[in-house]
Amino acid sequence: MMGYHSYRIDGKKWMLHAHRSEEAMNWMIDNMTTASKVGGNDLSPVMEHWYEDPEGINGEFPGTHEFLGGPNGSGPAANPQQDVCDNLLACCKDAGADVHFGTVAKQLVKNDDGRVVGVACEDPDGTVTQYNGAKGVVMCTGDFGTNAEMVKTMIPWMDGIPGGIWEGSGHKMCYWAGAAVDRSGTPAPMVFCFQWRSITKQVRAFQGLLVNDDGVRYTNEDNVISHGGLSLMHNKNHESFAIWDDDYANEPQWQNHAFVDGDPVFATADDVRAYWEECVNGPGTIEMNGSGQIEVKMIKADTVEELVDQLGLPKEETLATIERYNKYCEQGYDEEFDKRPDLLLPVKTAPFYGIKCTPWFLTTTGGIRCNDKMQVQDKDDDVIPGLFCLGSMVGDMYDSCYSTHFPGHNLGATCLTFGYLTGTYLATEAE
Ligand SMILES: Cc1cc2nc3c(=O)[nH]c(=O)nc-3n(C[C@H](O)[C@H](O)[C@H](O)COP(=O)(O)OP(=O)(O)OC[C@H]3O[C@@H](n4cnc5c(N)ncnc54)[C@H](O)[C@@H]3O)c2cc1C
Repeated sequence: MMGYHSYRIDGKKWMLHAHRSEEAMNWMIDNMTTASKVGGNDLSPVMEHWYEDPEGINGEFPGTHEFLGGPNGSGPAANPQQDVCDNLLACCKDAGADVHFGTVAKQLVKNDDGRVVGVACEDPDGTVTQYNGAKGVVMCTGDFGTNAEMVKTMIPWMDGIPGGIWEGSGHKMCYWAGAAVDRSGTPAPMVFCFQWRSITKQVRAFQGLLVNDDGVRYTNEDNVISHGGLSLMHNKNHESFAIWDDDYANEPQWQNHAFVDGDPVFATADDVRAYWEECVNGPGTIEMNGSGQIEVKMIKADTVEELVDQLGLPKEETLATIERYNKYCEQGYDEEFDKRPDLLLPVKTAPFYGIKCTPWFLTTTGGIRCNDKMQVQDKDDDVIPGLFCLGSMVGDMYDSCYSTHFPGHNLGATCLTFGYLTGTYLATEAE
């Protein structure tokens, strides 16, 4: 991961994740599998399947765990995370925690020595209450992705790209308290391309033919979704077009299993075709996380010419690209981008399909400089006493972009492992 991020990240935090995530995840699994003891639901841990590249270049490492079998869903298309949150809440309450919902943090409170001692919050009825932290205040208010001004200032190359969840109020409170931004100077977005999910029903890149606005290829299509999403941002208008044919439904490379030892995402090629039909006839948009609608208009046509027309691509150039690409498929060697031969699948069997691909960022990550105890630091790297951060706020975990070469690790590292360790530290050593 340090290599994927050009070493412009915090190696100490990554090694902490490498060394302690097993302990943290085992703690989570123990709590999730026995949650009925505290009034929750017992859940079964599974591991999501990852994208494997036999050449070992563009694949993913195993990463994402899910907890299934609860009332909110049985797979990623449902909402099993809610069951995990509900169980954690039950565990916290059982341990004596006092939980306030709808309470909005407005301002950190420092004492005369500069120590952060509390936070002023607006309660749902409008009253402002100061909550004090015996050992500190832990900020975990998520990202600043819906704050266009902050995105433009802190990640200028993401200006105008849609996405994000929260408006960065917690970041601003930390800056008021003296926090510096990441040592790399810039937080990193979690860029994906969601139209690919509409093709494969999985959070993974599309490995067929991708062309830019000029109708020419621009990349080796064999990639993980984060880096595939980034590579299309090199194109004019930040877009590309995926093109594939009926035979792609027979392609086993991406018909992976949802979970290790689980059922395939699609049982048969006809199930794939039926799913594409739904997408072709669907509303043409998907709702993403309450932060906006993503255009996912899938086109189907009887001829390649018709498809190219409907996608609005330059005809001569695109047809020449398809012909060239088909030649690479036939000869088993990609003369332009060296895509591995197994994925050289020609575009020649009707009906033909296409979709415009655009970037979308799930969230920003980072923005708050902190050490490997998650203690927030100022511009001289001095700790601001009493102030901690977790989750998407934690700085210097990624550079340029979050990488799905190791999927699920924002939750796995900055939320779960660092959360577990910070909680333990506050409950024991911290003064
Ligand atoms: C659709 C989607 C899918 C994702 N999938 C993955 C994945 O598979 N793996 C992964 O690692 N990451 C994933 N992410 C990124 C994910 O958001 C983070 O990894 C994770 O949720 C970060 O947790 P967090 O606690 O930092 O922030 P959040 O989960 O965003 O929580 C922030 C909380 O702070 C609250 N808050 C904000 N401001 C205030 C305030 N002023 N006062 C009080 N409360 C406040 C919010 O209400 C919210 O409850 C996904 C994101 C999206 C949008």
